[in-house]
Amino acid sequence: MSSTSRFANRRLAIIGAGPIGVETALRALAEGLTVTLYEAREPGAHVRRWSHVRFFSPWSLNRSALGEAMLREAGRELVDGEVFPTGESYLREYLEPLLAELDARPGLDLQPNTRVLGISRLRALKGDLLANPRRAHRPFLLRVSGPEGERFDEADLVIDASGVLSTPNMLGPGGLPAIGEEALNGQVLRGIPDVTERDADLANRRVLVVGDGHSAATTLGALTELRTRAPQTRVVWAYRSDGEPFVEIEGDTLPQRLRLSRLGNAVARGEVDGVEARPGVFVQRISPEGDALRVTLASAGGDTSEVEVDRIIANVGYHPDTSLYRELQVHLCYASDGPMKLAASLLASTGGADCLDQTSAGPEVLKNPEPGFYVLGTKSYGRNSNFLLKVGLQQIDDVMTLIRDSQDV
Ligand SMILES: Cc1cc2nc3c(=O)[nH]c(=O)nc-3n(C[C@H](O)[C@H](O)[C@H](O)COP(=O)(O)OP(=O)(O)OC[C@H]3O[C@@H](n4cnc5c(N)ncnc54)[C@H](O)[C@@H]3O)c2cc1C
Repeated sequence: MSSTSRFANRRLAIIGAGPIGVETALRALAEGLTVTLYEAREPGAHVRRWSHVRFFSPWSLNRSALGEAMLREAGRELVDGEVFPTGESYLREYLEPLLAELDARPGLDLQPNTRVLGISRLRALKGDLLANPRRAHRPFLLRVSGPEGERFDEADLVIDASGVLSTPNMLGPGGLPAIGEEALNGQVLRGIPDVTERDADLANRRVLVVGDGHSAATTLGALTELRTRAPQTRVVWAYRSDGEPFVEIEGDTLPQRLRLSRLGNAVARGEVDGVEARPGVFVQRISPEGDALRVTLASAGGDTSEVEVDRIIANVGYHPDTSLYRELQVHLCYASDGPMKLAASLLASTGGADCLDQTSAGPEVLKNPEPGFYVLGTKSYGRNSNFLLKVGLQQIDDVMTLIRDSQDV
């Protein structure tokens, strides 16, 4: 790395000051790029939504060597690498101090409360200059909305690290909204509840949890804990798979993950008081009835049943907002909505493997038909929820290699 590298002073726009956006900015500055880091809210906004949840990966997998070095140089002590942070401690102990150090460096323009609305090329439409090296010489154009209104900005390179948490999946059959779901005006909680604080009004309520991933298991864990303080809390857990949905990895090195999988499977077997499992169903209809919600659950075979609840918690995943790069030449996977090359490599490498074993598939899979445009971080995985920060940190190395080696920019 050196500030005298060939691409020094090229303008890089990074969308999203989450973990990967901030780490990318750090690395790009070290490479000599000029960086604008756009953040729709405040840095780390998505992690803040689950700040009460504990990471299942330890600190050592969640920090970059460059970030650690910068904080040590600034005289900060780092938490032991073996410890598992919460979202809150990740922000407080790492991301925020890192950003404070970075913000003081020349070359970075951090723009909080500034949302990128769309990306295109100056003087080139989506269909122009196909596979033509001249396309790379037309600067990117970003339509952004900040505290002073909307404007267009230019950049030579763009990295989209805007995550997926702003675009949750819907509850209904096949990913469609359930009938009545869109009219509920925020009555569906989409995420993992903080039963001690933010979502304390779940106590002694009837709660429907939907989904069969680790987020749903985390929610079930939180609600079971809530039941020890508020024993009238009743939980129905609806999910589309049959039987016990979690793989309990023999000798799992991540104790938190194993605990969650065991809890989810115990609920599925009907062994946890106050939590009733409804496997093999999806939400068909939600109808408000006074303060309550009447929910129709349907099986793939067409059988229906009803449940009346006070709250619904949707843990059915997220999808990327691909509208940001609709005007660019990005080849998307028809199954995951992630950029095609990475999606294909992820599809080829799955098959029951432990997601912790993943590594980056190398620079080549981060390339798009659009020169100089890259999707990194959790958004790069599209609808696939297996993304890990340790992979994102490798992606940053890979993309810097691509930028450095590129003949186009
Ligand atoms: C509950 C939970 C637990 C997890 N646990 C782990 C774990 O233990 N280990 C692990 O490795 N990974 C874990 N992950 C997965 C992943 O590492 C995190 O989701 C991580 O936050 C991804 O970082 P990111 O920078 O890619 O995206 P995000 O953290 O989602 O950051 C994206 C940022 O972009 C901003 N943004 C969005 N749209 C725009 C826009 N149009 N313009 C400007 N800014 C925008 C957002 O406000 C946000 O700040 C977990 C995820 C969740 C949800």
